[in-house]
Amino acid sequence: MTEKRKYADRREYLIKAVAKRRRKVKLMAIEYRGGRCQICGYNKCPGALDLHHINGQKSFGISEKGYTRSWKKIKKELDKCILVCANCHREIEVGITQLP
Ligand SMILES: [Zn+2]
Repeated sequence: MTEKRKYADRREYLIKAVAKRRRKVKLMAIEYRGGRCQICGYNKCPGALDLHHINGQKSFGISEKGYTRSWKKIKKELDKCILVCANCHREIEVGITQLP
């Protein structure tokens, strides 16, 4: 086995490890914020749950590079968010639904 081959294996392993951690952090974040949509109670699919930043419209970023931050920092951000499902999130954005 060449060095190059080893590097490729390692790289693939790291990509998988990061993807795994991202999924885990998302689930931890969902659980931390109550595990269900704060407006309608939806909890069937974690992928359909979003974190909405209460103050301002600035995107929270937990779904981007936020996943690689430490859990402690993520929790601090999560305290400023509410968990809502994708439908309720859209309704908040267009003003149909008011935040509780
Ligand atoms: Zn909802």
